Amino acid sequence: MSTVNLLDLDRKGMEAFFVSIGEKPFRATQVLKWLYQEQVDDFDEMTNLSKALRANLKENCTINAPEIITEQIASDGTRKWIIKMDSDNRVECVFIPEEKRGTLCVSSQVGCALACTFCSTGQQGFNRNLKTSEIIGQLYAAQNRLGDEKKITNVVMMGMGEPLLNFDNVIAAMNLMMDDFAYGLSKRRVTISTSGVVPAMHRLTEACDVSLAVSLHAANNELRDVLVPINQKYPLNELMAACRENAKLAPRRTVTFEYVMLDGINDSDADARALIRLLKNIPAKLNLIPFNPFPNSNYQCSSDERIERFKTILTNASLVTTVRRTRGEDIDAACGQLVGKVKDKSRRHLKLQLAGS
Ligand code: SAH
Ligand code: SF4
Repeated sequence: MSTVNLLDLDRKGMEAFFVSIGEKPFRATQVLKWLYQEQVDDFDEMTNLSKALRANLKENCTINAPEIITEQIASDGTRKWIIKMDSDNRVECVFIPEEKRGTLCVSSQVGCALACTFCSTGQQGFNRNLKTSEIIGQLYAAQNRLGDEKKITNVVMMGMGEPLLNFDNVIAAMNLMMDDFAYGLSKRRVTISTSGVVPAMHRLTEACDVSLAVSLHAANNELRDVLVPINQKYPLNELMAACRENAKLAPRRTVTFEYVMLDGINDSDADARALIRLLKNIPAKLNLIPFNPFPNSNYQCSSDERIERFKTILTNASLVTTVRRTRGEDIDAACGQLVGKVKDKSRRHLKLQLAGS
């Protein structure tokens, strides 16, 4: 038997694994609890398993989480970790503390193939998909690092990568986030953000009930084709149909639409009115994101007044609209700034360098 990293398995996967070694499926829930609730990574401490089973697991399994190699803490308390996935690949993961919650922004891929023109991850290109253990491992490593001091209450799949292009691994990781024997987060507190991979959105609606956020950024195909190039493959009418299907999953369910505010590009009164028309038949919430610049980005953020005016037009049309507060700006931890490699620029702000980096 080849070595199995137990962090690669959600409950179903782990049940199948235990059955395959002649054990009862309920061993899965016991082990999940040790891993994620007790943070135990030594099989000998899993005292409700028989000695023989522990020996078997020691021989054939690992508990292998990725390692945090650097930590930066912004003046607003936001933390950005660079997490080492293998000798060549690093991703970034951001923790945003608020009074009543702590949100972890998790990456799904090293880089991203979709090349949205306003996103630094997209400009960097694609390297590889993360494994389930590398996705849930971000939560595992982050909660370990935070200790009892702060709790992760919400997860957003809004770090590096397009989560729906790494479908199976992301679903398994989200299953673990919501599993009562693992992290037990409610489906309202786990959000997947997609740029609009329509066929995978249909599969998601069937596979896993989490909150959906869609990166819209433009209300017409002409502009969206440029900003979010995957729109050329799955245009707005198909995207909106997939959103409507998702919204039907539960009564009072809404889809969140993200809209990055780009000066002179998508922020006019006419753009706001086009947005209202587009979202007319969908239970929608809008989240306006001030554009976060990065080196060589060719866009500017809309002015505060423009964003306010844009918001007012939407709110007056009864669209629930919020403006995302930018967090962690001084450490390049804001939306779209995650690049996943240690650059000289980020080293300048480094407050704490952990052992092993
Ligand atoms: N690939 C997924 C999830 C990761 S991006 C997606 O595109 O939805 C998370 C969010 O940050 C998306 O809404 C994305 O459009 C937005 N974003 C990307 N670059 C940005 C930037 N430079 N400034 C502000 N938001 C950005
Ligand atoms: Fe990829 Fe999302 Fe960035 Fe587009 S916005 S390049 S889909 S990470």
